[in-house]
Amino acid sequence: MLDVQALSRKDASVNGPESPSRRFVDQGRPLTMYSDLIYVACPNCGARAQITPRPGLPELRYYSELLYRPRRLTCTACAATRSWSAKQRNNALVGVKLGGPSDPFFDLPLWLQTPCRGEVLWAYNERHLDILENYVAADLRERTDYRSNGAMLSRLPAWMKAAGHRADVLRAIRRLRIQLEQVASHDRSATMLDRTNRGPRGGNNYYFRPPY
Ligand SMILES: [Zn+2]
Repeated sequence: MLDVQALSRKDASVNGPESPSRRFVDQGRPLTMYSDLIYVACPNCGARAQITPRPGLPELRYYSELLYRPRRLTCTACAATRSWSAKQRNNALVGVKLGGPSDPFFDLPLWLQTPCRGEVLWAYNERHLDILENYVAADLRERTDYRSNGAMLSRLPAWMKAAGHRADVLRAIRRLRIQLEQVASHDRSATMLDRTNRGPRGGNNYYFRPPY
């Protein structure tokens, strides 16, 4: 996998020291690529728990496998674990739909969510925060020649992309970085407890052949 941060550092240096503008090149990565680690509120004790693919499976061939691979939730605070397996329909596995401030496997509130401009800014993990921050902070946003279908950054809502919202969105991302390190049950954000924030996930289901 490409190192997104290294890439954006290299791109920024192209401008030279006389130019203060920050350039960001969008490689068109899908949200799926950030779904390998999802922090949520533990359903048992409310502390920060994590959802990852079940250990011991073969290496990923495609990132889309992350949508239907078996998952495990683990909580270091209370030792709770939960398992998830994809539903089957007509000999195919039904992949989850990503998006919104809850996880797509257990439907638990994401740990990283905070109010911003009357909306909810959310992320799955630190790498997800990194790319959002690099993108929002950039003065010049470019994209490589990719098919936009499924590219995470091209699908960000307009309120996150607006230049006039940049300072507020960057502040919200900084709040989430602090939230990331606060792992106890009482550290949960108020946004997380407001379940009315969850909208339905749009789009079609994807179907995959076993063997998972
Ligand atoms: Zn727990």
